[in-house]
Amino acid sequence: MAAASSIRNLGILAHVDAGKTTLTEQLLYLSGSTRAAGNVDKGTSLSDGLDVERRRGISVRATTLTFAWRDSRINLIDTPGHVDFSAEVERSLRVLDGAVLVVSAVEGIQAQTETIWAALEAMGLPTVIFVNKIDRAGADFGAVVEGIRAELSPQVACLNRPVAEGDDGAAVEDLGEGGQEQLAEAVAATDDALLERYLEGEGLSGDVLAGGLARAVAARQLFPVLCGSAKRGAGAEALLDAVVTCLPAAAGDAAAPVSGVVFRLEHDARLGRLAGVRLFAGALRNRDRVANHTAEREELVTQIKRLAVNRYEDAAELVAGEIGFLSGMPEARIGDVLGDPEAVPGDYRLSEPLLSVQVAPRDEADHTRLTEALQQLSSEDPHLDFQWVAEERELQVRIMGAVQTEILTEVLQTRFGIAAEFSAPTVIYRETPARAGAGSEAYTMPKPCWAIVEFQVAPGARGSGAVYRSEVDKSDIHIKYQREIAGNLPLSLKQGPKGWEVTDLEVALTGGSHHLLHSRPGDFKLAANMAILKALVEADTVLLEPVLAFRIAAPEEFVGKVCADVTHMRGRFEPPEMSQGQFVLLGRFPLASSMDYAIRLSSLTGGRGSLSVRYDGYEPCPDELGATRPHRGISPLDRAKYILWWRGAIR
Ligand code: GDP
Repeated sequence: MAAASSIRNLGILAHVDAGKTTLTEQLLYLSGSTRAAGNVDKGTSLSDGLDVERRRGISVRATTLTFAWRDSRINLIDTPGHVDFSAEVERSLRVLDGAVLVVSAVEGIQAQTETIWAALEAMGLPTVIFVNKIDRAGADFGAVVEGIRAELSPQVACLNRPVAEGDDGAAVEDLGEGGQEQLAEAVAATDDALLERYLEGEGLSGDVLAGGLARAVAARQLFPVLCGSAKRGAGAEALLDAVVTCLPAAAGDAAAPVSGVVFRLEHDARLGRLAGVRLFAGALRNRDRVANHTAEREELVTQIKRLAVNRYEDAAELVAGEIGFLSGMPEARIGDVLGDPEAVPGDYRLSEPLLSVQVAPRDEADHTRLTEALQQLSSEDPHLDFQWVAEERELQVRIMGAVQTEILTEVLQTRFGIAAEFSAPTVIYRETPARAGAGSEAYTMPKPCWAIVEFQVAPGARGSGAVYRSEVDKSDIHIKYQREIAGNLPLSLKQGPKGWEVTDLEVALTGGSHHLLHSRPGDFKLAANMAILKALVEADTVLLEPVLAFRIAAPEEFVGKVCADVTHMRGRFEPPEMSQGQFVLLGRFPLASSMDYAIRLSSLTGGRGSLSVRYDGYEPCPDELGATRPHRGISPLDRAKYILWWRGAIR
C-alpha cells in the first residue's frame, strides 16, 4: 500500500471539449494501467462511465480512477466540464489536493474556464495548467499563455514549449536557456532567500529550483504551464512529472481522530451501494463504527474497497490522505462528514439548479416506483431537490441544465428499470418584497391551540437570502416557540404570493404571545406561515430571474446579428473585441430568453460560433416577462381550509 505521503488526489478540470477525457486516457496509458489509450471519438474511453456519455462524447459524471506514477499513487477524481454539472465539479474539488486545468491551444480561455478558476481559487487548490491540442491547426501556445496571464493570473511559469505547433507531428521540448532563466526568475520572486541568491548571480538550478517551485505552487504563488497534445500523447509524461514534483502530496495525520467526507455514491452491480470517502485524518478499518457528523448517527463500515484503475479491490484499512469506497452505509448522502469535521475543508457552492422539469413514467403503472426512485436519488444527491406535488399529480425535479435530464433518464432505466419522460425545462424564478409590509395572525380557535404572531418583512440586499430576527421577549413567546418559528422560516418562504421561493429579505418577529395551557408544538409554525404570507402580500413582491454571463466568439460578419439577438433577449454586452476576422462578445442575459441560443447561434454561423455561459445571480424581472404560478397545495391565505389541512382533517 502506498504511504499517504506519496498520494496525490488530483482533479482534471476543463471547459467542455478541451480534451480532458482524451488526456485522462493518455495518462492511464502512460502509467501502464491500460494497454491502449481509449478514444472518445470511438466511444472506447474508460473514464466515461455512462452510455450517454459515450454516445454524446461528453463527460457528465465524475469518475474516480487510480494509477501509479514514479513513486506516487495518483487518485484521479475526474470532474465534468459541462456547465450543467457544476455541482459535481464543486463537490469533487473539496477532496482534491491539487488540480490540472486543461485549456485548448486553439480556443484558449472560455467563460467556463474562468468559473472553474474562481472555484479553484476559492478552494485554495494548487493548480498546474495544461495547454492541449498544440497539434491542431490554429494552435498558438504563446497567445494562450498571454490569455492566461491576462484573465487568470499573471503568476505563471512555463515548464516546456511546443515544437511544430499546429502540425500533426507537434511535440514538446524543454525550455531553452531564456525560458529556464524566466522560470528561475519567477520562482525566485516568490521567496526572499531565493531572490537574494538569484540577484547575487548564483544560478538557481536542480533541487533548489525544484524545491522553490514546489513551495510556490503549493502556496498558489505560481502556476506552472505545460503544453502538449493529449490525442498524440505529446507532453503527457512531462505533465505527470509536474504533477508529482510540483503539486503537494496528500497530507493528514493517520494517528488523529477520523475525519472524512462522502464525496460520491457509486452503485456497483456486484457490491451494491458504495460511499466514496476522502479521509483527511485518522484511519478506518473494516467493521469500524464512525460518527456521521452531518446526519447525527453512527455508521458501521462493513467493508472498505479501494480502486485499482477502475475496479474495486479489498483494502482492510483506509488512512488519512486516501480515498476509499465504503459499504454498510445505506443512508449516507453526498457531503456527509464522517467523524471530526475539523479537518474537512469547507464546501463551496459554484452554482445552483435553475431549471425545473416534470417527470412522468411512460407506463402509468410505474408511478409509485418512479416516485420512490426519485426520492432515493434526491436523498443521495441534495442538489437534485426532488419535489413531489400531490395536488397536480406531477413529479418535479430541479436541475442545472437540460443535459441532466438525459442522465436521469438513463439512470432511471439502468438502475431502476423505469422508462421515464421529462418535460421541457422551465426556469425557476424567485421573488423578493417590493417594499416593507406587515402581517399578523391569531390562531386561538378551535381549542386546544394558541399562537399569536406579528411579522414585518422588508427588502434585503441582492444575494443576502433571508435574514431573521426577533424583537419579542421570551416571556411573551417562549423560547422553544421562537426556535420553532426561526427553524420553520424556509418553509414559510417556500412559496410567496407569486408562487416562488421568497429571498433577499428581512423578516422580523415584532409581536405576539403564547398561552401556558393551550399553546402546542406546531401552532407557531402554522401561525407564522399565515402571517408571513400576509405580510408579503401587503409588501407585494418583485419577480427575480436567473441571469447568465456569456462569452460569444464567431466570425466578424455575424457581429451585427449577434448583438441584435442579445438585445432582443434582454441582454447587455460590452463593446465587441475584434481580432483576426473573429469577434468576442462578453455580456449577460436572462436564462429564460437564452435557453436555445447555443443552437440558434450554431445555425446562424454554420457551426463557426461558440457560446459559453455561467450562472451570474438572480435579478429583477418584469412580471409579464417572467412567470407567476398558483400556490401549490392549500394556501395559508385560505385560512379556514389551511387550518383544517394543518390539523390533518383534510388531505
Ligand atoms: P473533454 O470534453 O474535455 O473531455 O474533451 P475530449 O477528450 O472528449 O475531446 C474533445 C475532442 O477534442 C475530441 O474530438 C478529441 O479527439 C479532441 N482532442 C482532444 N485532445 C486533442 C488534442 O490534443 N489534439 C487534437 N487535435 N484533438 C484533441
